[in-house]
Amino acid sequence: MAARVQFASGEYVPLEMHKVRVVQKLNLLPVEERLKAVEGAGYNTFLLQNRDVFLDMLTDSGTNAMSDQQIASMMVADDAYAGSASYARLYEAIVEIFGTEYFLPAHQGRAAEHIISQVFIPRSGVVPMNFHFTTTKAHIELAGGQIAELFTDEALKIKSDFPFKGNLDIAKLKALIAKVGKQNVPYVRMEAGTNLIGGQPFSIANMRDVRKVCDDHGLLIVLDVSLIAENVYFIKTREEEFKDADVKTIIRAMCDLADIIYFSARKVCCARGGGIATRSKELYLKMRDLVPLFEGFLTYGGMSVREIEAMAVGLRETLDMDMISQSPQFIKYLVDQLDAGGVPVVTPAGGLGCHLDAMGFLPHVPQLQYPAGALGTALFIISGIRGMERGTISMDRDADGNDVPSEVELLRLAMPRRVFTLSQVKYVEDRVKWLYANRELVGGLEFYDEPKVLRFFVGRLRPTGDWPQKLIAKFRQDFPNGV
Ligand SMILES: *Cc1c(COP(=O)(O)O)cnc(C)c1O
Repeated sequence: MAARVQFASGEYVPLEMHKVRVVQKLNLLPVEERLKAVEGAGYNTFLLQNRDVFLDMLTDSGTNAMSDQQIASMMVADDAYAGSASYARLYEAIVEIFGTEYFLPAHQGRAAEHIISQVFIPRSGVVPMNFHFTTTKAHIELAGGQIAELFTDEALKIKSDFPFKGNLDIAKLKALIAKVGKQNVPYVRMEAGTNLIGGQPFSIANMRDVRKVCDDHGLLIVLDVSLIAENVYFIKTREEEFKDADVKTIIRAMCDLADIIYFSARKVCCARGGGIATRSKELYLKMRDLVPLFEGFLTYGGMSVREIEAMAVGLRETLDMDMISQSPQFIKYLVDQLDAGGVPVVTPAGGLGCHLDAMGFLPHVPQLQYPAGALGTALFIISGIRGMERGTISMDRDADGNDVPSEVELLRLAMPRRVFTLSQVKYVEDRVKWLYANRELVGGLEFYDEPKVLRFFVGRLRPTGDWPQKLIAKFRQDFPNGV
């Protein structure tokens, strides 16, 4: 897939379709200080202080660059507990873009998940889905349900050219409904731009098939649209039927197939917030009363009116192909460069970030010594780049207290929207390649402080041996005067 502006050299170069007008200074600490920082953070990149980080590729959540239009809109926000004009502007944008008449604001994506799970999961049941997201799974389990991930066999292959790794396997869905009984399926969940496997899309053809199965069994579809922008970009560039369709048509085609949609505005709107939308008054009324209880009154839902204004503008900006193609094109550049250099990386490139395959990168680190976590800390030490572990550390232990090995061990390098320049991306490429060349120096990690739920957020680990010191020694040898 070519960039819209092609270079005469024929080289694939993603081009920024915006200019920088406000900047934030970055710090690049010397490698020895980065080691101290990561030690203080319990070898968990979530616990690093941002002042110690050079390029923050932990997440695209709440870290996207706002546009001048978004910032301007925040200045005219209307402060009111009830009936704020800012809320009315957001509501209008929601109706226009998603085609849903009813909207419930919630302070972020997981708050929407909390409400949906509490309302529709009656203390038991199985929620089939293409992929889970960490907070989704936690909320479904909190409500007494379980999840069943029904991805296709292609999805977890590291090397692939399958265009729609986010598809839900229809045969598995039918088999699951037959096995547990439709009365035990509260709803089917589809996640656009599947987060945990790197922003891989599903096709509209696949969602139509899911809809058909749900119609046959009278089941609801809940669509998580947090990462819909990039899913839309891939539908436009990969699904023949939609190659000439505009962004809005594709968004509508997806949303019209769902009964309830929800989102994290920290992703899709380049702001901070969330919400739930539906065309059904009945479904809306089922959920409505929980919003004032957990979030705030129905016209702010726990969000500041300034963020609500920025959400409305950010949502409309999603209709611009130049806007939504930025991250996927930068990610593709990085993934292609690393792949060509022999670094094990998930292909095809997704829409959320570049995902390094830690089991391929560090085959000598046993899975229960958390290769993806180890890779994340090693990369931070040698570069100041902060990624996120998406492997066994991100799983919780089973009922007997045993570690549950994740099917894949990935280090995610997220590409927040409109944030990084190409030279910064080239720095990432360079340091990942250096680390790959020196990969035998990297060892594993072990927990010494481990919470029971969502341990990846605040758990603390230590290295198995003195491998970080050896890694630094090699770094100093190769970059005697560098940082
Ligand atoms: C981030 C995310 C969520 C949770 O949203 P928060 O705003 O972080 O609570 C849910 N689903 C997906 C797909 C996400 O990417």
